[in-house]
Amino acid sequence: MILFFGTRLRRRLLDTGTFRCPLCGVDRPYDHLEVRTWFHLFWVPVVPLGRPQEALRCHGCGVEWPAGLAGPA
Ligand SMILES: [Zn+2]
Repeated sequence: MILFFGTRLRRRLLDTGTFRCPLCGVDRPYDHLEVRTWFHLFWVPVVPLGRPQEALRCHGCGVEWPAGLAGPA
């Protein structure tokens, strides 16, 4: 029997908003995400590893930035 296991990132949407994306250079909508590494077995997440991180994913370019970029809305 072959076991498929490893780690994968899972993203969970926390919020949405608008910020000035450093790459796009203009205001863009973003997804505020919780990003966490999970141990997976046959691609099914089993155990979370480490602490969750927060990121902002720009809708324009798709880059994920540290959550501190949003600033007060
Ligand atoms: Zn962007």
